[in-house]
Amino acid sequence: MIDSKLFELMACPRCKGDIHEKGMFVLCRRCELAFPVLDQSIPDMIIDEAWPLQKAEKNDFKHDLKIE
Ligand SMILES: [Zn+2]
Repeated sequence: MIDSKLFELMACPRCKGDIHEKGMFVLCRRCELAFPVLDQSIPDMIIDEAWPLQKAEKNDFKHDLKIE
């Protein structure tokens, strides 16, 4: 889980809108992007590395990405 205080400060880097946590991702429904959360607590908010929401949904909101 992402620290809730940190989460309150976070916004979608693309639309600056609200995001929420689902499985191993942080989602922006407006942009239909899923940002992977690495190491269970570090969201990767780089737009180029985000998954399309549908792909994350198909994967049951799981990924096996690791911090490099
Ligand atoms: Zn967005």
